Amino acid sequence: MGGRTLIQYIRNQNKSDVVKMLSRNVDDSNEASLVAKAIIEDVKARGDIAVNAYTKKFDGATIDDLQVSQSEIDEAMQVVSVDLKEALQEAANNIRKYHEQQGSNSYFINEKDYRLGQIVKPIANVGMYVPGGRAAYPSTVLMTAIPAKIAGVKELVMITPPKADGTIQPSLLVAAAFAGVDKIYKVGGAQGIAALTYGTETISKVAKIVGPGNSYVAAAKKIVSSVVGIDMVAGPSEIAIIADKEANPAFIAADLMSQAEHDEDAAAILLTDSEALAEAVKMELAKQVEQLSRKSIILEALSKNGAIVITNSIDEAIDITNELAPEHLEILTTNAVDVYGRIESAGAIFIGEYSPEPVGDYFAGPNHTLPTNGTAKFASPLSVTDFQKKTSLVYYSKEALEMRKDAIELIAEEEGLTAHANAISIRFKR
Ligand code: NAD
Repeated sequence: MGGRTLIQYIRNQNKSDVVKMLSRNVDDSNEASLVAKAIIEDVKARGDIAVNAYTKKFDGATIDDLQVSQSEIDEAMQVVSVDLKEALQEAANNIRKYHEQQGSNSYFINEKDYRLGQIVKPIANVGMYVPGGRAAYPSTVLMTAIPAKIAGVKELVMITPPKADGTIQPSLLVAAAFAGVDKIYKVGGAQGIAALTYGTETISKVAKIVGPGNSYVAAAKKIVSSVVGIDMVAGPSEIAIIADKEANPAFIAADLMSQAEHDEDAAAILLTDSEALAEAVKMELAKQVEQLSRKSIILEALSKNGAIVITNSIDEAIDITNELAPEHLEILTTNAVDVYGRIESAGAIFIGEYSPEPVGDYFAGPNHTLPTNGTAKFASPLSVTDFQKKTSLVYYSKEALEMRKDAIELIAEEEGLTAHANAISIRFKR
């Protein structure tokens, strides 16, 4: 480990100092933004030619046909093991069952002389980004596509960068088929986001783009967000764990590292009122990391954004957690249900020793695209609502308007908007 601290200890600090120490300055990478901007302009100008040139440059692939064919999907179905297909299908069923409870509904207020309403419609065409650079994430395909399809999105287009041989990881194609994705294109990065935003000869433009990606993808989404809708721009992943002396240190260490392996900027924080537990977790971290394939990423994440916070009480741990508003929160205390009832802000809460975060990442049903970097104070997990839009409806009869015209005109005059007042009064002039 070259003298690097495995994980920092924080103790004897007041609450606001702890929160300050744990709040990350997530780099808004100006460099990625400049690169993304240039790529977007180029794709806007040159369409498919630019798309294919960047795919060659960044992914090393020469692409003849941007769209994944039905025979490629059929082949993926053959290649992926029966066991993995069954696991993905079961996860898909769980995710569908959970998300079917979501979404806004249309409603109407009917009075005898007027009618008001809120009409909910699906967004007609949506592009979903599935990362494909360093790893393949079939779970992300399910988590994004299933709520979109429940909302009723007609044209759900998936993009993902191809491997150097021009193919897509078969499990991604299988997950896309299970989730009902309509079209899949072999393009990633800022060029993919640009293609979905402006359209190319092959790829039709969409109304909204969702899905996680690296810094170039995130920068590109921010840039195009004045032209298309986007979901939240997710930052690096985080986990906080509240635990007391009864908790199992081996489980805690394993769970902290399951987040830390995502990337070097991931954050993993234990809040406990037990010195003995803190020590035991630290020993478990050192022991278990040796067995893990992403050891170097984990060690960097733990040393940069990992912490064991010794609090005076579990109450204090709860207060700090509410200020942090972590993306993922595990509660491993004897009175976990009571603790969970006092959590104000977290993306997802996992209760008890047998609900480790990967259960939620892959399988249980709730969405794994969650607000990061403290945004759980105001933002929510990806849901069916993200794929819906609302239109309001007003119908007034002549009698209804006549009865209320003075009030409306009065407000218009107060605002100095006489044309507004006139549009009411003209209807009742003889
Ligand atoms: P990615 O698909 O996001 O990025 C790969 C693409 O980045 C390449 O195809 C290329 O176009 C572009 N790129 C790479 N280097 C570039 C450069 N120098 N200049 C311009 N463009 C460049 O895949 P990734 O890199 O593996 O990143 C995936 C990210 O998504 C990770 O940060 C991961 O943690 C995150 N993720 C998040 C969730 C979630 O739910 N929040 C789920 C899965 C993955």
